[in-house]
Amino acid sequence: PEEAELEALQHADVAALLPLPGPESDKYRRGVVGIAAGSARYPGAAVLAVSGALRGGAGAVRYVGPAASAVIARFPETLVSDKGPAKAGRVQAWVVGPGAGDEARSVAEVLKAEVPVLIDADGLRLADRGAVRRRSAPTLLTPHAGEAAALLGISREEVEGARLTAVRELAARYDATVLLKGSTTLVADPGGGPVRVNATGTPWLATAGSGDVLSGLSGSLLAAGLSPRDAGSTAAYLHGLAGRYAADGAPAGAHDVADALPEAWRDVR
Ligand code: AMP
Ligand code: MG
Repeated sequence: PEEAELEALQHADVAALLPLPGPESDKYRRGVVGIAAGSARYPGAAVLAVSGALRGGAGAVRYVGPAASAVIARFPETLVSDKGPAKAGRVQAWVVGPGAGDEARSVAEVLKAEVPVLIDADGLRLADRGAVRRRSAPTLLTPHAGEAAALLGISREEVEGARLTAVRELAARYDATVLLKGSTTLVADPGGGPVRVNATGTPWLATAGSGDVLSGLSGSLLAAGLSPRDAGSTAAYLHGLAGRYAADGAPAGAHDVADALPEAWRDVR
């Protein structure tokens, strides 16, 4: 029999994957997620990535970058550092790229980390493909169609017309798990196998900053120990539900989507 090309997570699958604390838990064992994001021009992307990360089940969120004061003003529980990612202290997974502008150095530093790394947004343009391929720990790339097109050297329309091929091709080229965003979300592993598809979202999620929330949330699940495939697809599932709750027939901002994540989580459990 022919192998199924697509698989969708069900509510129960997501519930089983959610990292839940137990009596033995402490914040370090629950995982620390590092967020290297934002720039003078886009400080809000850092705030939104942290907002998603705080709702993802990691024990702590560590932020490095130029938006520390904005992050702290909104989320005082964030650990901030004025050093680069290499010297920021222990983390179990990194998220790099949202609103990063041209901060190429932090991307290169994060790629050397021996923990899972999620690369999104500007980070996708700044990441050297060879450096991604040489990584010892897993990597998760989270492009939308336009970013995927730029990485593949084709047009956005070509990606939209062949999303399954595009996500698999990117996973092979980067030897990384790839989460392709859009009206449905596809997650492909570099070794092949069925592609995970998520359709819990809503077109209201097509709003500035929405992807930054997803990247933080996914990074938090990576830090809690999920594989890139499970972290990305579980995050897409929760993010889609949160989008529905936040934008219940009326527009909502990306920060509202982040604020609805606990409700999505409770619904799945
Ligand atoms: P970004 O483009 O990085 O801001 O990410 C946008 C987020 O919104 C991703 O999680 C997309 O999957 C989601 N999204 C965008 N457009 C739609 C749509 N038409 N239907 C459902 N989800 C969408
Ligand atoms: Mg984005």
